[in-house]
Amino acid sequence: MYWKQTSSPGSSCIGQFSIWRAFLRNGIILSLIQVRALTKSIAAGARRVDILKGIDLEIPSGQFVAIMGPSGSGKSTLLGLLAGLDSPTSGQVLLDGEDITKLSEDQMAVLRGRKIGFVYQSYHLIPTLTAEENVLLPMELAGEEPGEAARARYLLGRVGLEDRRGHYPVELSGGEQQRVALARAFARRPSILLADEPTGNLDSASGQMVLDLLLELNREQGATLVMVTHEPSVARCADRRVLLRDGLIVAE
Ligand code: ADP
Ligand code: MG
Repeated sequence: MYWKQTSSPGSSCIGQFSIWRAFLRNGIILSLIQVRALTKSIAAGARRVDILKGIDLEIPSGQFVAIMGPSGSGKSTLLGLLAGLDSPTSGQVLLDGEDITKLSEDQMAVLRGRKIGFVYQSYHLIPTLTAEENVLLPMELAGEEPGEAARARYLLGRVGLEDRRGHYPVELSGGEQQRVALARAFARRPSILLADEPTGNLDSASGQMVLDLLLELNREQGATLVMVTHEPSVARCADRRVLLRDGLIVAE
């Protein structure tokens, strides 16, 4: 047995057999995400707020990591730094060995488009675009053409929304909007998927559906998944749980 069994018998964790276990079995671990001595402080008026106080974390390729911790502990800030949406005060974030904190905004945007999918708690769909156009957008921005319409339709079908293609976000329920956001996040086959409380705004039935789809799509793609969650039932499905408190990792 090379790994800990993380789910109790009888529970269903769709993403359970993630590819990092295959790597482990073969004795190869690719370290996809490396976080070194990462800090983030901001000036709030005359005061300085230390949001992250020195985070060290290595996430092998294909692993599913649940980030937990009380509100205000720095979870969203950490995820934003992993996506290069924000820059740290000090420390490094390496994706496949490349220090993204050294990249220009333009270089980071290209790398993000190529490697990273992001799912937010509040969906962040573009209100003036239909469901299908929202899913197409990342592919169009990247200048991809052959097969992009088919890929968007495949993904919308995959999340059960083929018949809602032409709907605008305002015409969709929260759960449906989040499913469109999932289709968009997977549009360019990211090797890293970051999700910040993706079911936080949903009732439990839609939340479960979104989560199942997220884990299924993730398993299909073999992406590394880092998910902020408060839900023990979700965390139980993860390969690993990391607990943040007050800007520090306090437990694994
Ligand atoms: P979490 O996602 O764990 O709830 P966040 O990463 O959103 O935590 O925030 C961590 C702490 O940093 C919180 O106390 C929050 O108020 C503070 N914070 C985050 N962004 C800002 C900002 N732009 N200005 C002031 N305080 C901020
Ligand atoms: Mg947060």
